[in-house]
Amino acid sequence: MVENFEAKLKEYARLLVEIGLNVQPGQTPSIEGFVEAAPLVRLCVEACYDCGARNVITDWGDDFVTRQQFLRADEAVFSEYPSYMKAKVDWLLEHQCPRLSFAGSNPELLRGVDPARMQARRRVSGAATREYFDAMTASKFQWSIGAYPAPAWAKKVFPDLPEPEAMDALWDAIFSVCRITGDGQAVRRWREHIETTARRCEALNAYNFKSLHYVNSLGTDLTVELPENHVWLGGSERTPAGVEFVANMPTEEIFTAPRWDGVHGRVYAALPLALDGNLVKDFYLDFKDGRIVDVHAAQGEEILRRSVDLDEGSHYLGEVALVPYDSPIRNKGILFYNTLFDENASCHLAFGSSYPTCVRGGADMTEEAQKAAGLNQSINHVDFMVGTRDLAIVGTTQKGKEVPVFVEGNFAF
Ligand code: ZN
Ligand code: ZN
Repeated sequence: MVENFEAKLKEYARLLVEIGLNVQPGQTPSIEGFVEAAPLVRLCVEACYDCGARNVITDWGDDFVTRQQFLRADEAVFSEYPSYMKAKVDWLLEHQCPRLSFAGSNPELLRGVDPARMQARRRVSGAATREYFDAMTASKFQWSIGAYPAPAWAKKVFPDLPEPEAMDALWDAIFSVCRITGDGQAVRRWREHIETTARRCEALNAYNFKSLHYVNSLGTDLTVELPENHVWLGGSERTPAGVEFVANMPTEEIFTAPRWDGVHGRVYAALPLALDGNLVKDFYLDFKDGRIVDVHAAQGEEILRRSVDLDEGSHYLGEVALVPYDSPIRNKGILFYNTLFDENASCHLAFGSSYPTCVRGGADMTEEAQKAAGLNQSINHVDFMVGTRDLAIVGTTQKGKEVPVFVEGNFAF
């Protein structure tokens, strides 16, 4: 048993709703739940109403049903996006409904599924919901992602423990990296953490680097140019109405956008990547003028290649994120097999879309203007970990001065 589980789960729900979404009186949050997560979803619904929500919308997914569909539904289903679903997404966007979703599915849910079906689904739903998710990544409304472990996920993280113990161990890990102790003070602790992160962002923004150079003993030797008006973000974000929210719970990263056409060299992954329910291991990517020109993986190369080939923008980087090697998540020494957590364990990059807010004024630019400003566009966004204990990152300022940013895996300042 997890000690004080009920109190901790309640503290987690409050954290997601009060700090993650920061629900304002009169708003209508939309919660993408799944049936296994019902106990947490219900606590979140309560917390939303406690914040003065006008109404709370819940949507329920089910891993079992999803897998059955991918294996057994008619082929044509994966090339359709029903109009009633499109109408709903449009409504949520029109009403700027804060969106809470949960990671937690079985990481190998789609193992053995025809990759063509997954690709068709992602392409079709990506196109249909593009406006909605573009608005979301541009922070036009509040959104946040939490987690609720499925037993299969727990078994994957703790393969040597029997199922109930594995679940308890995963819950303990989630609570601990979210700074939840059961004392009801997680919301206060997160306000402090957000402030610390904001101070670091200010320092990076003051340097206004032209490029970053990554080197480590795995063989990484990568230069990443940054857009002229790039902004480092981290901790919290703000909607145009000025509402502060935390998009990923937990978050330890400070991130910006690279110049999509300004990445050169080779980067090695530091951790395996869980992609479409499959694992990609020991891989590297080669870049020339920003474009991924070669992909190599000891395991899952085809899955990785398909993801890079999803659309043209998928061939370019959209995110560069700094996370100290000594982060609470890495210190746990656990590979979560889930990006929400693992991306906070390590410096990472992502191929696919950028966050438009990473360039000054980017959220209000046309697509053409965003591209000219250095921002990448894609229906894909795949984070992969590159931070190692010996990672060194050197920044070069506009005037050509070199400044150590990371030394031995941690911030130099
Ligand atoms: Zn990130
Ligand atoms: Zn990312």
